[in-house]
Amino acid sequence: MGEESRKLDVILFPFLAHGHMIPMLDIARLFVSRGAKATIITTTLNAPTVLKSIQNSQKLGAPIDLEIFPFSTRQVGLPEGVESFEQAIGLDMFGQFMAATDMLRSPLEQLLESRRPDCLVADMFLPWATDAAAKFDIPRLVFHGTSCFSLCAIEVLRLYPLNVPLSDDEVFFLPHLPGDIKLTRLQIPVEYRENFEGQFKRFMNRIGESEVKSYGVIVNSFYELEPAYADYYRNDLGRRAWHIGPVSLCNRNREEKAQRGIEAAVDEHDCVKWLDSKEPNSVIYICFGSMAIFSSAQLHEIAMALESSGQQFIWVVKGRGDIRENDQEWLPEGFEERMEGKGLIIRGWAPQVMILDHQAIAAFVTHCGWNSILEGISTGVSMVTWPLGAEQFFNEILVTEILKIGIPVGAKEWGKVGSVPLTVKQEAIEKAVRQIMAGEEAEEMRNRANRLKEMALRTVEEGGSSYSDLSSLIEELCSKSKGD
Ligand code: UDP
Repeated sequence: MGEESRKLDVILFPFLAHGHMIPMLDIARLFVSRGAKATIITTTLNAPTVLKSIQNSQKLGAPIDLEIFPFSTRQVGLPEGVESFEQAIGLDMFGQFMAATDMLRSPLEQLLESRRPDCLVADMFLPWATDAAAKFDIPRLVFHGTSCFSLCAIEVLRLYPLNVPLSDDEVFFLPHLPGDIKLTRLQIPVEYRENFEGQFKRFMNRIGESEVKSYGVIVNSFYELEPAYADYYRNDLGRRAWHIGPVSLCNRNREEKAQRGIEAAVDEHDCVKWLDSKEPNSVIYICFGSMAIFSSAQLHEIAMALESSGQQFIWVVKGRGDIRENDQEWLPEGFEERMEGKGLIIRGWAPQVMILDHQAIAAFVTHCGWNSILEGISTGVSMVTWPLGAEQFFNEILVTEILKIGIPVGAKEWGKVGSVPLTVKQEAIEKAVRQIMAGEEAEEMRNRANRLKEMALRTVEEGGSSYSDLSSLIEELCSKSKGD
């Protein structure tokens, strides 16, 4: 722990969505573990999510400070109590939520003015943070929370828009990107399709511009995972980037792995006991992140597929309100009785990293949210990829075509975040689940996944590339603040 790093004062401002808060909390823990002082900003109703992680860090003698800002719902027409992106998306109130988020700029500026930290790490969805920090001559680092591959893919689509009309399933190559990356029009976010104009596209442009003006970018990935894209991002797109992940690996013991985000809907001891009763590499884990709510029809197809695949599973099912109330709409009759001992349904929040880390888990059916993928890579599981929206179709390509540790379920069309209609049928799901669990190809993918896990573990240890990248960032920020 260097003398200079002890003096570094970092403020971290995550976007109010669990997929963004969770990794940012891990980043705060990384900073404090290296002797810096870290403060996390959140709002009143998001504080419980943040507190657990802060307490865990405190126990290790690495305290993180908490700064709570009020969230103005009424002024922008949001119902009271809606303080997270997941809730706002469920109500189709993205615009109002972003308007309320923009109002956090003023308390941020007050905090920056009084505290004068050495650095502000702010989420991509807070594009005004660059100017807010610049007012006080404070460097702002951007945190996107996705892969370097996706960052590059999105930036080339922004810089070189598709001008020629394409039919929906016509294949095109992502311009300039190494590796001849093929996609169809339906797989890319609507705002990057030809001649698309709209509020979200303008917002994405603001994000891009604020990134260019910022001090640099913190990437939750590691260099060895995607070197061609890490180089492209730095050298061709000209970004100053520090690859410091997988940040979830800062959670070392079982308690820390189990207690990330929302309180789990299952007792962690029961869950571990269930997993302990299984052979190594014999269970598939199915979870689609923090935001996706599948239609009853799609859930029903998954249930049928799991049963007919004959595989053991842990399946995380989320709904609005109490999902159990709608059981009869999606659960085949007698399903849980028939699956007793063979499959476990978690209704609500799962202790994901703890589950993935268990030796019984062989594979992961994932929506390709980047945190989930990186958590899967860090625990050496192969994957069935089922992208839904956001940048997830890009992440799917990284997993299936570049890293070759997964197979696609066959999702074809990008959709808006939130509700998921029926798009993938039982047969396709069953086929992918069988294929990833058994056979030569499955074995090869698992071996590759295990090699990546070893690389991930090494990269965050002293001497590893992510460890060193964080060291150089800390050193650079320290010398900047000393005016060197
Ligand atoms: N997560 C979890 N339990 C759940 C669902 C999600 O612990 O039941 C965590 C998961 O480990 C990951 C984050 O929530 O860290 C989800 O982020 P991701 O980027 O995968 O997807 P998003 O939720 O942003 O779509």
